[in-house]
Amino acid sequence: METMSQSSGRQAAARCSICGAPAVARIPYARLSLCPSHFMEFVERKVERVLRRVGAPRRGARILVAVSGGKDSAAMLTALSKLSKLYGFELVGIHLVLGFGAYSEKSRETAEKACRENGVPCIVISIEEALGAPVHVIARRARRPVCSVCGLVKRYIINAAAVELRADYVAMGHNADDIIAYTLKLFLNQDLESIAKMGPATESIEGLAVARLRPLYEVTERESLLYALLSNTPFLHDECPYRPVAPIEQRIKESMNRLEEEHPGVKINYIRRLESRLTVYKRLAAEKEWKPQKCPTCGLLSSGGECGFCRLTRRALGEPKGPHVRRLLRELAAKAARPA
Ligand code: SF4
Ligand code: ZN
Ligand code: ZN
Repeated sequence: METMSQSSGRQAAARCSICGAPAVARIPYARLSLCPSHFMEFVERKVERVLRRVGAPRRGARILVAVSGGKDSAAMLTALSKLSKLYGFELVGIHLVLGFGAYSEKSRETAEKACRENGVPCIVISIEEALGAPVHVIARRARRPVCSVCGLVKRYIINAAAVELRADYVAMGHNADDIIAYTLKLFLNQDLESIAKMGPATESIEGLAVARLRPLYEVTERESLLYALLSNTPFLHDECPYRPVAPIEQRIKESMNRLEEEHPGVKINYIRRLESRLTVYKRLAAEKEWKPQKCPTCGLLSSGGECGFCRLTRRALGEPKGPHVRRLLRELAAKAARPA
């Protein structure tokens, strides 16, 4: 996708393919130029189709939306909020304050504002208050990379919150470029079984894990950014201070964008074929005979023995924090329905 400022000169005064108004985006793979309102409709339709395919928009379903304050969660929140009115499902936002100083404070303000403007209640959890130390300090004590600890802590707390809130889904803001980059990285490592979890939705495991939903599965990074801008949803432009300089995913995204310019449609075709082939990867994962297990310490999902979160916090903080986090979330869940 190109915004019209990027393509000016090549496509002067382009018009919307649907209504003839001035276009803001050209989408070569769909052979479309779109005005703001038809562009927004284009993105919302992609989100709606993904939700319908996984059976998510039932009336009364509760979706916990992970809102980081970035562009993708902003776009996802606004698109879901519009669809929730149409389909009658309920949204609850969740924001985790990672404890990275001014960046985290700005992220929190932005996430709360985005939820408020969409009329979605927002649960805010400070990692430092919940665990006694911010993410980077836990990582230092555990002698692990900050991003790996951050990912583990976020996944655990968001899943635990979804279990306590009796949510049907946790919506994550992974866009199509993220999913392409993760799955190609998994392929490079020949970790084919993990690709099974990278579809538009995973399955719930009763009492242990809540299904993850990726509403932006077919929405590219550029489309997500433009949608967030056009919908006026607040989002933070700053990058996390702990973001690795050139993670392999970033390099894959750049290469795929170059390929997309030469062969429009290569990304969307990949993501759709990936979805249609997920059963193959699921079969590979099943061959491993992995059975979901219960962490003996906190009672949530584990791949065997104590879960990663309880092991991490035992090592870095002197005690496993799973049971404490679950207690805290149970109390918060009781107040969850209140608007932010
Ligand atoms: Fe966490 Fe920042 Fe790493 Fe993202 S870049 S996983 S927010 S530490
Ligand atoms: Zn139009
Ligand atoms: Zn545990």
